[in-house]
Amino acid sequence: MAGQLLAQTENWQTEYEKSGLVATPTYAQTMDFIERLDAASDQISVADFGISPQGRALRYLIYDVDGYTEAAQIKAAGRPLLMVQAGIHPGESEGKDAMLILLRDQVLQGKYDHLFNNVSLIFIPIFNVDGHERFSPYGRINQNGPVEMGWRTTAQNLNLNRDFLKAEAPEMQAWLAMYNQFDPDFFIDTHTTDGADYQYVMTYAMETEGNMERGLTEWQTEVFLPFWKKQMQQAGFPVFPYVSFRRWHDPRSGLVSSPAGGPMLSQGYTAQRNRPGLLLETHMLKPYAQRVDATKAAVVFTMELLAREAKSLKKSIAVADHFTASEAFRATNFPIKFEVDRHDSSLVAFDGVEYKVLKSELTGGDWFVYEKDKPTAFLLPIFDKAKVSESVKLPEAYLIPVEWKTVINKLQYHGIQMDTLDRNSEFLVENYHFTDVSWQGRPYEGRHKINRMAFETKTERKSFLAGTILVPTNQPKARLIAYLLEPEADGSLLEWGGFFDVIFEQKEYAESYVMEPLARRMLDSIPGLKQAFFY
Ligand SMILES: [Zn+2]
Repeated sequence: MAGQLLAQTENWQTEYEKSGLVATPTYAQTMDFIERLDAASDQISVADFGISPQGRALRYLIYDVDGYTEAAQIKAAGRPLLMVQAGIHPGESEGKDAMLILLRDQVLQGKYDHLFNNVSLIFIPIFNVDGHERFSPYGRINQNGPVEMGWRTTAQNLNLNRDFLKAEAPEMQAWLAMYNQFDPDFFIDTHTTDGADYQYVMTYAMETEGNMERGLTEWQTEVFLPFWKKQMQQAGFPVFPYVSFRRWHDPRSGLVSSPAGGPMLSQGYTAQRNRPGLLLETHMLKPYAQRVDATKAAVVFTMELLAREAKSLKKSIAVADHFTASEAFRATNFPIKFEVDRHDSSLVAFDGVEYKVLKSELTGGDWFVYEKDKPTAFLLPIFDKAKVSESVKLPEAYLIPVEWKTVINKLQYHGIQMDTLDRNSEFLVENYHFTDVSWQGRPYEGRHKINRMAFETKTERKSFLAGTILVPTNQPKARLIAYLLEPEADGSLLEWGGFFDVIFEQKEYAESYVMEPLARRMLDSIPGLKQAFFY
């Protein structure tokens, strides 16, 4: 079969190759190609995991050497499962084009047998399928190809890479169901970044600044990253952490690298589920073909490491899950908000390019001209130390009154284990009493986020109706539960605005002619009230 296929290699060119490495395929062409791969290989299966708001199938491809398609079978075989995602931002299509070539070369030539014999792969070629079909040359005008590309947001104008926790988009709800089902050991999200020019074709982010379980953090910093970075360097793609600049577009102002800011972003989300996530960001000014090559190399070297370190990764994950579900975890202070320490920097070598800051006679402002033919080695301060700005001690359980269906549904999307009270019950609970709350005026992802909150905590005995949902924290998803439900957690449901806002509204009021006599009677009849009221 393989020989016969090899004879038809010409027909097996991807649309990207046919175009001379400058164009990326449409949704229909992409789906057609993965279906051909499915038909040509017993190891590949293509399946749907949902449907987009405009009616397109959300599709993934799974490659398993034994042809397994179920998570349990793959786990039982002991192989690590890698999920590679492309097209969460469809204009950033390198992941799609890189993986179609990688999979084609594997199916036709067995080029990566040494990897695929030991690692199983789920690949999502286009996550945001509706945004992908908003195809135009102007989807990302800053970017050096492909010639046409999709649009960043979904048909509902939501950015899926802000939606992992709040799960508003139907695409995300479908993704979470699939993620819960497969529970991949390692996740890669492929992107393209904007911003100042520099020499690196690719930057990356992993959660290594204290917002991931310690053993997994060590696995990432001591096992994964040293190997992967070295391989990338040797392949001609030296990588650097994904940074922003203290002053926009101005590398000399210093570099800032921060944790993902809660689980709204992909790699931040998998981190709270105790699974390593790697964010890849190729640089938009590099030629498209170079960015596709770098993305392919990044996946290949990840697979090499996973093939070698399957045992240590699986063990680190098991230990992290066990610890997160334990009493010992609840005894710790769990960080729920971080900020970059703006006073703690170190010097780092940065392969930038020379640039000029010019005064614009058009706008009166500054603009930047990068001189890519003048590579320059900078020595720059990097601010990459994260400080915990809020932390909590997790309770034994959270209680969600039965009527809060929207919130209960959110927890269900994440596959969180919940119990239901079968009779009316009383509990001693810690309650947050808000004293001050305000909202942002402009919407963000369709929500008016809370920008300031103050509350007091009170321990009280409260009664709860039968049907109340009890969310125990002795489960591996305890970190995620805290991020959803602790009000001050970065990107919590409360902070997003809208999910809980009705609790801040006054719904009834009292006439003064009713309040006055009532207040007088109460002050006279309730011992101590007068003193408390007038101090
Ligand atoms: Zn992106």
